[in-house]
Amino acid sequence: MKVVERIRLPPPEEREAALRKAGYNLFQLQSDDVYIDLLTDSGTSAMSDRQWAAMMLGDESYAGSRNFAHFESTVRELTGFPHIIPAHQGRAAENLLFSMMAKPGTIVPNNMHFDTTRAHVERNGAKAVNLAIAEAYDLQSPYPFKGNVDVPRLEQLLAHEGAAKVPLVMVTLTNNTGGGQPVSLANLIEVQRACRVAGVPLYLDMCRWAENAFFIREREPGMGAVSIPEIGRRVFDLAEGATMSAKKDGLVNIGGFVATRDAALAGRLKEQLILFEGFPTYGGLARRDLEAASVGLREACDLDYLTHRIGQVRYLAALLEAEGVPFVRPPGGHGIYLDVARFLPHLPTSELPGQSLVIELYREGAVRTVEVGAVMFGDGESDGHAPLELVRLAIPRRVYTSAHLAYVADVVRRVWERRDQVRGVRMVEAPERLRHFLAKFAPAV
Ligand SMILES: *Cc1c(COP(=O)(O)O)cnc(C)c1O
Repeated sequence: MKVVERIRLPPPEEREAALRKAGYNLFQLQSDDVYIDLLTDSGTSAMSDRQWAAMMLGDESYAGSRNFAHFESTVRELTGFPHIIPAHQGRAAENLLFSMMAKPGTIVPNNMHFDTTRAHVERNGAKAVNLAIAEAYDLQSPYPFKGNVDVPRLEQLLAHEGAAKVPLVMVTLTNNTGGGQPVSLANLIEVQRACRVAGVPLYLDMCRWAENAFFIREREPGMGAVSIPEIGRRVFDLAEGATMSAKKDGLVNIGGFVATRDAALAGRLKEQLILFEGFPTYGGLARRDLEAASVGLREACDLDYLTHRIGQVRYLAALLEAEGVPFVRPPGGHGIYLDVARFLPHLPTSELPGQSLVIELYREGAVRTVEVGAVMFGDGESDGHAPLELVRLAIPRRVYTSAHLAYVADVVRRVWERRDQVRGVRMVEAPERLRHFLAKFAPAV
């Protein structure tokens, strides 16, 4: 480490006051009141020396910046997609793609929609349908690819609705909403076949494609000697395009893109881009940010890095496992997802057990986590599935040491030991869309 950042453990009374002030919504906390921040792994990574050096090479020209040329060639080489449209982050890429493709009355299937993905699909009047395999909903199942799409259900939907009603199929690598679980190459090949038969383009949400490739290499027969970039190419070759938040496997603090093989669509995306994000050679970013992303995208493919990264998640999993703490198995790529129904079985859904646990982990040790459950995905899924009730401990990339993670495990253990006394909360203010970001809560009475 060449740079260190001071963190501070606020005393219990400060934590209590901070919670009250935040309306018991951890998105509303000041980061100075947080000791270990596992709210998200998005844009919270530490950049490398090479990335910081790249930041100094910024060519801040409005048009034709050489940093964009480097970024474009990097993404083209990694993905094989010819048209690269930069955007300031993943949801901006989603806005571009879905505002072009998702029309009122259409249906967008995904293994599991992430919160912003779902919100963009619905904002454009389309229906977001989740088609993950049954194992994704069995939190204890050891199945190695719980991010997989249920292909028979996808085929059924495509046969029933046809290309006119389904503008695209999306698969999220890895499945963030379902525990950071990977999708197998074999599954993607089948999904692509189903899409081709129906004449529907396949797009990938490639936020964590390198972590997904790590799991393919580790778990899929015959893949053990294939490099991460080569696995990536086999995956991307199956798709028409992708959206990406470079704040994940791009190892930058801001950035993203849409990539596609469809030249006509790319033209329309660029028009939209100029209106909302900026000229196509910067897309809402400083050009130096694009340069850092070009370096980060390659660093994310490094096997030593990925082994360390996913190793950290497994280290925390092992510590929690030893205490009998229930979490989604097997541990995924970017964090631990606590199984709230098993953690707080005495709290009914109406008392928002996931949010209650998030509050309690902060109260116990100033650890900030995020609810992925009834608050984030409220009314459940369009196919009638109740949302999974999870608390995500997202691990930022290259930020924390094992000692920090051991502290986190200890905080979780302390709450686990007094779990019977954890009380529920209710929502007292709820915005209509993406309500978890701005909602306010109060202790249930
Ligand atoms: C983070 C994320 C997004 C949105 O990206 P932002 O950069 O946060 O806007 C979309 N899909 C998935 C799976 C994500 O994890």
